[in-house]
Amino acid sequence: MRKIYFTPGPSQLYFTIEEHFKSALTENIGSISHRGEQFKKIHQHADNGLRNLLNIPENFNIIFTSSATEIWERIIQSCVIENTTHLVNGAFSNKFYQTATQLGINANKIEATDGTCASINDIGIDSNPELIAFTHNETSTGASQPLDDIYKAREQFPNALIAVDAVSSLPYIDIDYTKVDSVYFSVQKCFGLPSGLGVWIVNDRCVEATLKKESLRKSTGSSFRLSNSFKMAMNHQTPATPNVLGIYLLGKVVEDMNLKGIDMIRREIDYKAAVLYNAINQHDTLSPFVKEIQHQSKTVVVAETEKSAEIIEKLGKKGFVLGTGYGKYKSKHIRIANFPTHSKEQIEMLSDLLLL
Ligand SMILES: *Cc1c(COP(=O)(O)O)cnc(C)c1O
Repeated sequence: MRKIYFTPGPSQLYFTIEEHFKSALTENIGSISHRGEQFKKIHQHADNGLRNLLNIPENFNIIFTSSATEIWERIIQSCVIENTTHLVNGAFSNKFYQTATQLGINANKIEATDGTCASINDIGIDSNPELIAFTHNETSTGASQPLDDIYKAREQFPNALIAVDAVSSLPYIDIDYTKVDSVYFSVQKCFGLPSGLGVWIVNDRCVEATLKKESLRKSTGSSFRLSNSFKMAMNHQTPATPNVLGIYLLGKVVEDMNLKGIDMIRREIDYKAAVLYNAINQHDTLSPFVKEIQHQSKTVVVAETEKSAEIIEKLGKKGFVLGTGYGKYKSKHIRIANFPTHSKEQIEMLSDLLLL
């Protein structure tokens, strides 16, 4: 039986991936030099495709890393001298907070109960943070911070850099890049690619912050420091031998997404999320973990239940692989990825099976 992964990352691969793997082999992608013209074209193709898909302005560059976790370190090392503020509402937002602390930064956290979102009104008005960290979609709980909160923080703290973890929500969300400075994701979530590639969308304000830090003779890292990778990315190059296959596949999948059209992808996710929440609301033993409708994630739907293992096993027998709860919620939640690769028909079938 063919399985379909609804796990929130790694997840089901994008439905066009097979032909791209084949063409990667034919084109010897695993063997080419990362300093040659062929690689530059692959880099440029992924870069242009992402700019087009996500509507990224000119003053941003796209930097390829190994993961989103790596980007947490890069952001702090590159752009922060003393202090950050983190809106924390689950495991991933907390890990970024811990990263800052471990790197010796005076990190503040504004903590919200799991399943809710922190309020920007709790950021001390005199705190003057160098950087405010948002997690748009907290994958561990399914709570999603409205983009308007993020934009309001920019208005209230115009000097702070705004960093947005959009790991499990891009390309679904339509971000106004004039109101943020760093946005990042990993490809194994909504993009439906094998893991091992992080994408950091970063602007000139972050580069100014890193140059300022360097001018004070403070370390911003070595080969992967932002001032170096930013410059290299402009020339479609990377500091080290990168995940060439990952960048190639990303370029191909993004091309397919552009052909389908981002509006269609976003509309389908809205429709499928409505179907899923409807099924969960009707179900006898399931209910949404996130109660506030405006905070309910569209891309990672989380339900609480006493029967998590039973439900996961029942659907698993039909080939539908659901996610368990994250961490301490392992046996208390189910998590369902609603990514671009999951078709309306698959989500409808999944919802029917849940209700059987
Ligand atoms: C998965 C995830 C990460 C970490 O991604 P890696 O690729 O494992 O580094 C960070 N933030 C969020 C919200 C995630 O869902």
